[in-house]
Amino acid sequence: MKYIMIFIPVLYFLKLYNCDIIYIETFDITIQKNIILTMYLLMTLLWFTATKIKKYCYKNIVSAIAHSIFIIEVFSLIFLTQTSVVLTIAFLMILGIVFIIFKKRFEKKDKFIKSYVISGAIILLVPFIYVSFIQNLRQPVYIITPDDTDLKASVFATKDEIVSEYTNDLQKLLEWENLNTLEKLELMEIVLNVETSYLGIKPIQVVLTGTQNDIYGMYYKGSRTIVLSHEATKSYEQCIKTLTHECFHAYQTQIMENLDFTNEDVSGCRYFAEAYSWWLNDKNYINDVDKYEEYVSQSIEKSAEKYSEEQIEFYKKILDQ
Ligand SMILES: [Zn+2]
Repeated sequence: MKYIMIFIPVLYFLKLYNCDIIYIETFDITIQKNIILTMYLLMTLLWFTATKIKKYCYKNIVSAIAHSIFIIEVFSLIFLTQTSVVLTIAFLMILGIVFIIFKKRFEKKDKFIKSYVISGAIILLVPFIYVSFIQNLRQPVYIITPDDTDLKASVFATKDEIVSEYTNDLQKLLEWENLNTLEKLELMEIVLNVETSYLGIKPIQVVLTGTQNDIYGMYYKGSRTIVLSHEATKSYEQCIKTLTHECFHAYQTQIMENLDFTNEDVSGCRYFAEAYSWWLNDKNYINDVDKYEEYVSQSIEKSAEKYSEEQIEFYKKILDQ
């Protein structure tokens, strides 16, 4: 039985292996993934070497399972701090109160520990399921909603003119590694405003969240939303590259939706050739990033990538000034 119970923390370790870094907004603390994994290993190791507690719990199967789950649940409370520090403290207080009540109630030590571990495991089941399987050990979602009051630039304005009022704020990009999520979001909002003004596109929303590995960003044209993964915000270069790339997809969509390529006077006119190639590509667009070569060689992707590469140079130039 002993060895079977160890499987539960081992399984959870495998799940933890894909977790996000933890960012506790209330205290502006970031906990790196290797620290999370080390903390988890130390905590479970200590718990499983506390032989007396184990001995009392291993008297029957229910308390033995509760013994394994309880420590994981207590550990998972650290993820709950990202949603609410108050709620985390509340759960810890409930555990404390139950501890005091049970200690008074049960005279025999083995009964007290057994009952406490089982009750604790039940109490923490809800936050545990929430952080582990609903939030999936990911950070909460951050949203940048477009501001309607932002002035829209004229299409004749240069990008330098548009960006000029933000030049000072953008210098913060150089301190990217030391910024917290909210400060990064502020900078991303500026880049978003500059891009939408420059490209002359309708406002876009950005959602920052934990997404599948390897995907930095996605543009959803129906909801006019860019979904950005935390991975894309690891460096300002990557973040700007992803944002400008996805903004360009919004630009392409606006063009494709407003030019009538069924009209041969449009599709046959050299001036619209690039846009026409997007329109043709869009009909057979390959969404599968696993087919990497095919994916990146599509006209829509090639143009967006070219734009983003030019724009990262543009922003770097501003930072050099
Ligand atoms: Zn793309």
